[in-house]
Amino acid sequence: MTPTVAKIVWLVFVVAWLILRHRPRRHSRKTPVRYSGRDAREFLLMAASLAGLGIVPAAYVAAHVPRFADYPLIQAQGYLGTAVALCSLWLLHRTHRDLGRNWSVSLDLRERHTLVTTGVYALVRHPMYAAFWLMALAQALLLPNWIAGPAGLIGFGFLYFGRVRREEDMMISAFDGEYLDYMRRTARVIPWLY
Ligand code: SAH
Repeated sequence: MTPTVAKIVWLVFVVAWLILRHRPRRHSRKTPVRYSGRDAREFLLMAASLAGLGIVPAAYVAAHVPRFADYPLIQAQGYLGTAVALCSLWLLHRTHRDLGRNWSVSLDLRERHTLVTTGVYALVRHPMYAAFWLMALAQALLLPNWIAGPAGLIGFGFLYFGRVRREEDMMISAFDGEYLDYMRRTARVIPWLY
C-alpha cells in the first residue's frame, strides 16, 4: 500500500462515517432535549476532537501539511489501519441502532429518554466512544505523519477524558440505581478491562 492509497482509504472511511451519522442526526432532532449539559467546556472539547479527527488530517490529505513530519509507511500499518477502520465503522453503525433516538452529539437528555443496556451497550457503557477511539487509531496507522496521524488520538482523547465522568454523572442523576447497577456490570470502553 502506498501512502497515497492509505490517505484515500482514510478519506473513504471518514466519508462513510459522515454518511452513517447523517440519518441519526436528522432523526434525533425530532425528539426534544429536556436537559442539556452543553457549556463552553463541552464546546472546546468538541472543537479539539473535530480538529484532531477532521481538520488536521484533512489538511494533511488535501495539502500535504506538515510535510516535515512524514515518515515511510510500513505495509502492515496500512492494512491494519484499514481493518481497524472497518471495525470502527461497524461499531458506530451498531451503536446508532442500539441508542436510537436517545443519541446526541453532546451531553443531552431527551424527552422520554430511556437507558439502553442491550446490544453493544451490554458489553461496554461507551461503545460509540470506543468506535471513535478505533477511528482515531486507524488514522494514526493510515497517515504516515507524526502530527496528522496521532492528532485524532490526542484530539479525541481531550473529548473522551474531559467528558466521560460528566456524562456518567448525568446518567446517574437521571437513572439513579439503574445506571449504578449498569456501571457495576460493564466496563467503559474495553469489555471486562476498562
Ligand atoms: N457514551 C455513549 C453515548 C454517546 S452519545 C457511547 O459512547 O456509546 C451521548 C449521549 O448518549 C449522552 O448525551 C447521553 O444522554 C446518551 N447516553 C449515553 N449512554 C446512554 C445509555 N446507556 N442509554 C441511553 N442514553 C445514553
